[in-house]
Amino acid sequence: MAPQPDSLSVLSFEEARRVVEDQARGITAHGTEAVDLLSAAGRVLAEPVVADRDIPPFPRSTRDGYAVRSGDMSRLPATMELIGEIRAGESPDLLPASVGPSTAVSIMTGAPVPAGADAVVMVEYTTRRGQRVEFTRGVVSGENIVPRGAEARQGGLLADRGVRLNDAAIALAASVGKSRLDVYKRPRIAVLTTGDEIVNVEATPGPTQIRNSNSYSLATQILAAGGEPVLLPIAPDETKKLRQLIELGLQSDLLLLTGGVSMGRYDLVEPVLAELGGEFFFTGAKIQPGRPVVFGRVPCGTASASRGHKYFFGLPGNPVSTMVTFELFVRPLIEALAGMSPRKLVFSHTRLASEIRVKTGLTRFLPAILSGEFENSQVQPVAWQGSGDIAATARANCYVVVPPDRELIAAGEWIAVMMR
Ligand code: AMP
Ligand code: MG
Repeated sequence: MAPQPDSLSVLSFEEARRVVEDQARGITAHGTEAVDLLSAAGRVLAEPVVADRDIPPFPRSTRDGYAVRSGDMSRLPATMELIGEIRAGESPDLLPASVGPSTAVSIMTGAPVPAGADAVVMVEYTTRRGQRVEFTRGVVSGENIVPRGAEARQGGLLADRGVRLNDAAIALAASVGKSRLDVYKRPRIAVLTTGDEIVNVEATPGPTQIRNSNSYSLATQILAAGGEPVLLPIAPDETKKLRQLIELGLQSDLLLLTGGVSMGRYDLVEPVLAELGGEFFFTGAKIQPGRPVVFGRVPCGTASASRGHKYFFGLPGNPVSTMVTFELFVRPLIEALAGMSPRKLVFSHTRLASEIRVKTGLTRFLPAILSGEFENSQVQPVAWQGSGDIAATARANCYVVVPPDRELIAAGEWIAVMMR
């Protein structure tokens, strides 16, 4: 049998994360497809979106009010003669004249500002008397006008390949007339649960059996990360069958295993992967939960996206460990396979509601509840029975991040939070 990976490959959280990010940078997404604009929501853009004309295409009023020459407003109140009105969608060419000294044009939000005018006074600061308007406030040149092309020039790049299409990106595509978009194909992510005690959701478990929940949390996370989950049958803790299912899983773009990576006598995932020529980047991370997490790759002739290799993760079987290690390490790799440009893991910060006491040495990601309103947010770890406690984790809406050098974090201190 191939040599077991040694204990030297237990990395700090930051080191392990960096290893994954480095590998992710070498990955190219495979294949694109054209989809309708709405179906593109949440997908990854595979074509540059450019401005089909100047944006805005005309100097646009941002207020309902009067288009004026700002120089006419030096003495207040000022009275101007009204020479016309422009509604959104109308052309200033319909006006009898351009805006000259002591004249004004009534204008609506979104309408083009007529020639001669260089500012718009909000209607709130004016009084209309027949064909005359009195102004009680002045404006500086350019006020309440977005100049033509100020947001983008015709042909300018608005969104590039690799962008995850959120509400704003979809609006942007719509604004330049893209009713269909090229997006990257979703990578197929195999999920292989291991363990003699694990049974299918539909089964009635025996007294010592556990229903498979990890495949479902992982599938949910895979979908959120932009992948397509491929759930394989449950693998027993037995070398031959496990190997067959691992080989099946390696036909997908990425293989995620859960369970069987600890130090138990029947934890066979690493030996079987080593047998298949697996190269291990790390076989543990100094984190809790999720310490036994494994990341590596096996040589594979058909793996074009990742230069002749297929990546795998061995995630610890404890349900919370599986969820946490996915967010920390698996997500960036799936995002890369999905064509997304790399991004750093960023944490928010908020105040801790009550003190945390832990042993030093591990970076901890503890299920927690972020609460409060407006500027009064605070975070409180949930009471839990450890990394097998799905019920406690389901009550949580985030994880608090405890650095490895802290034994005590006092109530009221700022603490890092990872949303979920
Ligand atoms: P292991 O990592 O195989 O040592 O498993 C650690 C713990 O996680 C054990 O209590 C397992 O029963 C549990 N576990 C493993 N796989 C799953 C799964 N797919 N769904 C729910 N619990 C699991
Ligand atoms: Mg097991």
